Amino acid sequence: MSKEVYFWEKRKAVLINKHDKERVIVPIIEEKTGLQITVERSYDTDLLGTFTKEVKREGSQLDTVRLKAHKGMQLMGLDIGIASEGIFGSHPVIPFIPWNYEIVILIDKKNDIEIVGESGTTATNYDYIVTGEYHEVQEFARRILFPSHFIVLRANNEENTAIIKGIRTWKSLKRIFDQEVNNSKKGKVFIEADTRACANPTRMENIERATQDLVKKMLSRCTICGAPGFIIVDKKVGLPCESCGSPTNEVATKIYACKKCTYTEEEQVEKKQASAGRCMHCNP
Ligand SMILES: [Zn+2]
Ligand SMILES: [Zn+2]
Repeated sequence: MSKEVYFWEKRKAVLINKHDKERVIVPIIEEKTGLQITVERSYDTDLLGTFTKEVKREGSQLDTVRLKAHKGMQLMGLDIGIASEGIFGSHPVIPFIPWNYEIVILIDKKNDIEIVGESGTTATNYDYIVTGEYHEVQEFARRILFPSHFIVLRANNEENTAIIKGIRTWKSLKRIFDQEVNNSKKGKVFIEADTRACANPTRMENIERATQDLVKKMLSRCTICGAPGFIIVDKKVGLPCESCGSPTNEVATKIYACKKCTYTEEEQVEKKQASAGRCMHCNP
């Protein structure tokens, strides 16, 4: 047994969860760290906010995921809590590009450690349309990879709180569309990709990447005090150009820090020089 695993081996943790996310989260963490995870399903995490806007989210994504982890520990009487939380929206830098950002958090109350696994991606089917035409519904459905990815539909517009989730066959899509068009004053429905993890394999893959990031950080330990979560907190640019030697904007050094004992360590990147193509003097 390596010393990295030893810290977590056979300790008990709770994952608070509703939408099947344990399918990817539990096996990865258990196999790589030896932690033993119980899934707590009795608490309705939708009370902390949903994607379909019936319940507004209070606070940030990180606030919500922390709250879930603590709720799980409280319910199960354990000192390690795991929870996950995703958001959908626009890419942080490039507007109009859809974006999915997933966080999987681990809080170890006994040792006062918080580790955050994360993964952001443009690989998402997050999208919606408002229409009264079934052929447009069909086009939309194909685009968002229906029926392997489910659909959410409601009459009128996104303000309507009477929502039909988890539509998963062409037959029920047509039936529910006809019914809700009739329920709508203007003959239109608001239709969107179902982004719950259980209804969206593309999102599930991103949760898996966030979990792998979490595990990597759980196994990275401080050189001085041995606490897990010894992670990159900053990067310094300035890798010298291969041709003229002047500093470029490429990363030269990664800075690791321990949140426990505040020890920091600098690590040079493997590459010794940047290509002249990245140099402001050789390739302005
Ligand atoms: Zn330390
Ligand atoms: Zn140069």
